[in-house]
Amino acid sequence: MKTVLILNFPAEGHVNPTLGITKAFSDKGYDVHYISTEKYKKRLEAAGATVHLHRDLLRTTPIHVGSPNGILDFVKIHIKTSLDILQIVKDLSKSIQFDFVYYDKFGAGELVRDYLDIPGVSSSASFLFGEEHLKILPLHPESGAPLELDQECEDLLAKMKETYGVAPKNLVQFMNNKGELNVVYTSRYFQPESDRFGDECLFIGPSFPKRAEKTDFPIEQLKDESVIYISMGTVLDHTEDFFNLCIDAFSGFNGKVVIAAGEKADLTKLKQAPENFIIAPYVPQLEVLEQSDVFITHGGMNSVNEGIHFSVPLVVMPHDKDQPMVAQRLSELHAGYVISKDEVNAQILKQAVDEVLRNDQYMAGIKKINQSFKECMDMEEVMERIDELIRQKNK
Ligand code: UDP
Repeated sequence: MKTVLILNFPAEGHVNPTLGITKAFSDKGYDVHYISTEKYKKRLEAAGATVHLHRDLLRTTPIHVGSPNGILDFVKIHIKTSLDILQIVKDLSKSIQFDFVYYDKFGAGELVRDYLDIPGVSSSASFLFGEEHLKILPLHPESGAPLELDQECEDLLAKMKETYGVAPKNLVQFMNNKGELNVVYTSRYFQPESDRFGDECLFIGPSFPKRAEKTDFPIEQLKDESVIYISMGTVLDHTEDFFNLCIDAFSGFNGKVVIAAGEKADLTKLKQAPENFIIAPYVPQLEVLEQSDVFITHGGMNSVNEGIHFSVPLVVMPHDKDQPMVAQRLSELHAGYVISKDEVNAQILKQAVDEVLRNDQYMAGIKKINQSFKECMDMEEVMERIDELIRQKNK
């Protein structure tokens, strides 16, 4: 039996895509240890993992991404969380012999791999990026305006080196951990410029095991109705004006309109919506998509994969991070209708929804991507490749 240590960045968009492989490891009889935060404990346990908790600094520390200190705050969260995780790993490794570590692109992955000196497999919650994308991040040493660390960060990194004997090669490592194998939850067909990425990249497609948490969302109200589902994901904020536009655009819609407003949205800033709207900070997205006819999304990788899986036509309004790249790829493959966040109004929203419902090319585009997901590498093969890596390392 193998023992795997899984590390992640405590965000929906990073944890959710790992649920399928966590379950596959556990179903195979692996002893699965997952280091995460309280928020994800139940769903990870339901996937068969023993969960070890660290502080949730990401949810409890305000980060003003637009401000000059925003990036520094973000890096500080990474350094502090990495120290928390290294301490947990140190304690666990007194009694557990891990065979390999499986870690997200974001976070402490390579640090822990180096500390344990065992094989490392990375997990990419989005498309793979070329080096030219990373170089524009202020965390990259060649960005032109690289981030200056403050004394607190320097002291924490010195403590990391002294206590655990590890250090990041550069700061961009906190957003781009690499492994000897790299698992990607999409297909080569959907990945832009996929021939740039070699055989060490395992395209396994997304998977959607049932999530354990119960919500009080009235899912039965969507049965036998036309449904427009709207979500801007779990990270974006200041989305209230956009949701008010949606209320204007779809108040005459003959069906239900579900808005997942996000936990950061101030619901008191929303207009009074008609009876056919259901607005909640968080909804069971997989169950809602199963009942939906159109999905208006920010183009987060997971939301897009989930929409494709349930064959729901997509209207995509990207904001930042990987979203413009996802939107562009959907557009290239005629699988999504892209609108600009800077030009959006109620009329454009209505037209976009009409277009994806009326024009069959969007459904055909989605079906093609969905088919490519079904043809991805299966979990058995992934586990064989990991076995082979462990054998080589132990030679
Ligand atoms: N999600 C959910 N309910 C909500 C909003 C989001 O279950 O009300 C889940 C969604 O199913 C997806 C993840 O949160 O798995 C969001 O990830 P994505 O990459 O789409 O966007 P992000 O939140 O990272 O911007």
